Amino acid sequence: MQYRKELLRQLPAMDVLLQCDEAAKLIDEYSYKAVLYAFRQATDFVRNKIISDNIEKCSANEIINIAEKMLFKKNSAGIKKVINCSGTVLHTNLGRSVLSEKAAKAAYIAAYNYANIEYDLATGERGDRHAYIEQQLISLTGCEAALFVNNNAAAVLLMLSALEKDGEVIVSRGELVEIGGSFRVPDIMKQSGCYLKEVGTTNKTRYSDYKNAITENTKAILKVHTSNYQIVGFTEDVGVARLAELAHENHLPLLCDLGSGLLFPFDNPALKNEPSAKEWLDKGADVVCFSGDKLLGGPQAGIIIGKEVYISKLKKHPLMRALRMDKITLAALEATLSLYFDIDVANTNIPLRKMLLQDKLCIKERAEKTLDSISQIDNISAELMPSQALVGGGSAPGKHIPSFAIYITHCSLSADKLAYLLRRQEVPVIGRVHKNSVMLDMFCVFDEDIPCLVQAIKNCGEINE
Ligand SMILES: *Cc1c(COP(=O)(O)O)cnc(C)c1O
Repeated sequence: MQYRKELLRQLPAMDVLLQCDEAAKLIDEYSYKAVLYAFRQATDFVRNKIISDNIEKCSANEIINIAEKMLFKKNSAGIKKVINCSGTVLHTNLGRSVLSEKAAKAAYIAAYNYANIEYDLATGERGDRHAYIEQQLISLTGCEAALFVNNNAAAVLLMLSALEKDGEVIVSRGELVEIGGSFRVPDIMKQSGCYLKEVGTTNKTRYSDYKNAITENTKAILKVHTSNYQIVGFTEDVGVARLAELAHENHLPLLCDLGSGLLFPFDNPALKNEPSAKEWLDKGADVVCFSGDKLLGGPQAGIIIGKEVYISKLKKHPLMRALRMDKITLAALEATLSLYFDIDVANTNIPLRKMLLQDKLCIKERAEKTLDSISQIDNISAELMPSQALVGGGSAPGKHIPSFAIYITHCSLSADKLAYLLRRQEVPVIGRVHKNSVMLDMFCVFDEDIPCLVQAIKNCGEINE
């Protein structure tokens, strides 16, 4: 108690805070009024922490640091380009996949002009906004029909909602996935009005488990690709081909949530055994849904492909109107798919594929070149080390890709502070704090962004406390 009182007494007065050198810089950047307000808020914040016994010391410096972050947060609102040094290719917090130039241009044109989204140029009549993209997917995967919604969560919701109300859907306990804490298959099921019938155990589900669960009330079998985790060791699951056979013997559809969304197999060490939409359809799946912004490398989207009988039912579902895609996404998706008609074109134009195909030596060279420039910077020391990049975004679980990272440390600032300063740059640099340094993985850094990255580090080197 005594100690707390003492701390409260030590809280710096407003005029003391305002007289610090740091305050003058902040006032220059943000205005006197804004800084005064932020200092008050930061002081209140620290006072509350003292009262709840969460703090051991409170210096003027710390209060100013908190105020500075508050000011930055308030004034840096808005979406901007960042440099991804996290080593995760599909980073959900950084917008997952980066569009190809062609897709980005198509999105720009659709956004900035009128476009024939639902207009048939041949007849001058109302057209179908999905028709062209549907044709693309039919050609690429051999599906009978296709449909598009805002994201894959919406696709799963629509797919299940179109089944008869109160019908049972059989799903393996090993596949009840949760993605990023916000997408849970059981919750989507509940929304759709289906009844979830779980079979098997977390690590083992057998053919007989599915078979014995089928009743008159069963409306579908659902297969979910456990794309963001791996159950390893003593496991067993039933493949798509056998499940399709079982479903069809019982006049049921096999619905598949593929998640990650490879159109067809991608010969890449990071994606070995990663299933593809075409593969699952060929094995007998009736409907397969997946994301547009994971391994496809396109815009956020939910893509549903499969048999005409089921897809046409989904097209007519009332939810479709609520989940429909906008023109900007449609344009970007169409442009992305167009690249897949020549796989070399896809591999050289879709950033995700280009990154996954980069040679280890190229990454090393890029990292060494960057390191050379960083080594010239005052107050910063840098070291190059092998690292492991990740595909991320709920795909290729546990698969590490060999990469290189530059570890940087500042002679007087903590790693946390350095990481924060890097995020504060005009083009924020997103690295990871690792022990006493900031780790900058070079796997996802574009060549043309290297000067910008070096400049950001240089700016941090100029600060010395
Ligand atoms: C990612 C994923 C989803 C959710 O997809 P969004 O496009 O993020 O809505 C659903 N199911 C699986 C299996 C996934 O991997």
